[in-house]
Amino acid sequence: MSLLILGSAAFDSIQTPSDRRERIIGGSAVHAAYAGSFFAPVNLVAVVGDDWPESNTRLLQDKGINTEGLEVRPGAKTLYWSGRYFDNMDDRETLDIQPNVMGSEYVPILPDDYKKTKTVFLANGAPASHLALLEQMDSPSLVVADTMDFYINGQREALDELLTKIDALVVNESEIRLLTGERNLLKAAQKGLNLGPQFLVVKKGENGAMFLSRTALFLLPAYPTTNVIDPTGAGDSFAGALTAYLSEADELNEKTMKNALLYATVTASFNVEGFSLERYQTLSRSDLERRADAFRAMVGF
Ligand code: AMP
Repeated sequence: MSLLILGSAAFDSIQTPSDRRERIIGGSAVHAAYAGSFFAPVNLVAVVGDDWPESNTRLLQDKGINTEGLEVRPGAKTLYWSGRYFDNMDDRETLDIQPNVMGSEYVPILPDDYKKTKTVFLANGAPASHLALLEQMDSPSLVVADTMDFYINGQREALDELLTKIDALVVNESEIRLLTGERNLLKAAQKGLNLGPQFLVVKKGENGAMFLSRTALFLLPAYPTTNVIDPTGAGDSFAGALTAYLSEADELNEKTMKNALLYATVTASFNVEGFSLERYQTLSRSDLERRADAFRAMVGF
């Protein structure tokens, strides 16, 4: 079964305490699609300007990602994001964000053969664009969304509407606190469920992840890695892998959710071991399985 991923395709400029890169391939949908494609066929939907090099598209196609839904808009510029990581490599500040072609008026164009895709991941992007995509879909059985401070603060009305139309929300700790105005993480997640989704996954960076539905709560630590080079896209990778794993599952029971969380954690742990998609480009499914086995042994699964 395939998975549709809508989000940003971007140029990222990244500074870490020891290194930097300028205008490398990034974006929420790019990270999510690449990570997800280890588990399921991915149909990508995003928009870029004509400054987007063909080699970036080829990089995605070489991984088997369907880029029919990647719109290249003549005369427009691709989203640009720049960020700087602090010494702990977990916290960061945004130095610059230029949505350009990805403004809130972006209406995704869905190729006909994407419309029947059963699982949808709405990676970071304008909630109005997410809603416009859902209107074009036939009847997806699982819709998962991410959001971020930029949209929680700036586009709340559309976001509130979106929350009533999705099955699951995958956000980080500060985002669920900002969304609900609640400091206590569990209370914030519980309030998050009242906004619409059936379940919620809260990403806690190096502290792992929390799953919450109305009947279940479980926690998973992060996979411990000493080799953190660039955490950008770890959250998107996590959500992309999680959703892709779920898209292949026969049933969404507790065991499936736990396995999806485990594979999402392991996939994201590889993402941080290089800038952009660098580490993924040398990664095989058997590398993922080996680390998943080691992780299972660590957490007693
Ligand atoms: P993460 O590290 O998982 O939070 O994701 C970082 C990615 O999100 C980067 O590759 C950015 O290009 C992308 N990004 C940053 N700001 C935005 C935004 N406002 N909308 C969509 N994508 C964004």
